[in-house]
Amino acid sequence: MNHNFKLISQRILAGGNPTTREEALSMLAASDEQTLSLVEAASDLRRYYFSNTVKVNYLVNLKSGLCPEDCGYCSQRLGSQAEILKYTWMKPQEAVEQAGYGIAGGASRICMVASGKGPTDRDVERVATMIEDLKDEYPQAEVCACLGILKEGQAQRLSEAGADAYNHNLNTSEDHYQNICSTHTYQERVDTVSAAQEAGLSACSGLIVGMKETDQQLVEAIFALKNLEGDSIPVNFLMPFAGTPLEDTWELTPLRCLRILCAVRMVNPEKELRMAGGREMHLRSLQGLALNVVNSLFLGDYLTSEGQSALDDLKMIQDGGFVVLGAEDRNLVAEHEAILREKKLESVASNNSCGTAPCSSSGGCGDQGGSSSLPVPRKRGAGTDLAPNA
Ligand code: SF4
Repeated sequence: MNHNFKLISQRILAGGNPTTREEALSMLAASDEQTLSLVEAASDLRRYYFSNTVKVNYLVNLKSGLCPEDCGYCSQRLGSQAEILKYTWMKPQEAVEQAGYGIAGGASRICMVASGKGPTDRDVERVATMIEDLKDEYPQAEVCACLGILKEGQAQRLSEAGADAYNHNLNTSEDHYQNICSTHTYQERVDTVSAAQEAGLSACSGLIVGMKETDQQLVEAIFALKNLEGDSIPVNFLMPFAGTPLEDTWELTPLRCLRILCAVRMVNPEKELRMAGGREMHLRSLQGLALNVVNSLFLGDYLTSEGQSALDDLKMIQDGGFVVLGAEDRNLVAEHEAILREKKLESVASNNSCGTAPCSSSGGCGDQGGSSSLPVPRKRGAGTDLAPNA
């Protein structure tokens, strides 16, 4: 059934009925020609709740690879042959240092992530120290922890240490979950999000799309996120790493990605909606247009893969007439360019073509991940001696 998408957003803004499952399905099924009118409708909601602000988040991968779980989409999974960085827990001081690069780049939220099914109590203490140290140095920064499935009391401990939020994605629908992971259940994921909320943490939970889910399953997942009543929804687009079960899975087009983001926005009008991992390779040149639907992104690189340069992220935000939340009075593009000029001089002086300070090179050394059509394993930033992309 064809719907007038604009009427749906107008109805929502007038306090009428929320988007139904059937309407969300029709959004996913919209033709390429209809997609711009869908974006316009979703943009009305985005503008109403978030004006022209973009929340910038920054990932710090505290522990990479070496995971015993078998999530089929993940380059860190058991048996993954993906050539990613593998390292165990970084030191608190390094975590704070890495976070500082993102904060300097305009990030207001630092996402501290570790691979694994879930943390031991000792791991939680380790991360609690990192959070306390980070908050001491950057009291204004929000911290979101992402450590997997939590056990009794762990969410409370993270909250006491100063964490603001906890991320645990539902990823897909309940009935598709068993097709992508056999070592833990969908329900365990739901329970962890609930535990975080009960401990007073803001819940962040989202999706990975392009994993052979049907439109019906995607709609179920979008409504499950709505029912969770979290505060932020990251939408990841599958990066089919070579060496994982979903390698060679290419189902998404840029316009399809836009329709998915629109459907999530239309069902969750007031939630922080983030275009997350894989946006560069799947939305491609439509990333800027997607900012009219989403109000949040990750700056720079992802956990195990490279993103487009942080400078290009900031230019994209500025070019679209958006401002970075919390940095409305700063010219982040000019700041980044000044840092780059300074570092270029330093590297020429030291004959070092890839310095140790924040690297935002647009087309410079190592900057190939964002625009590549294949996932490019991250080889800079956390866990390396090289400058991060921030
Ligand atoms: S998503 Fe997390 S739990 Fe699953 S394999 Fe990757 S690191 Fe492990």
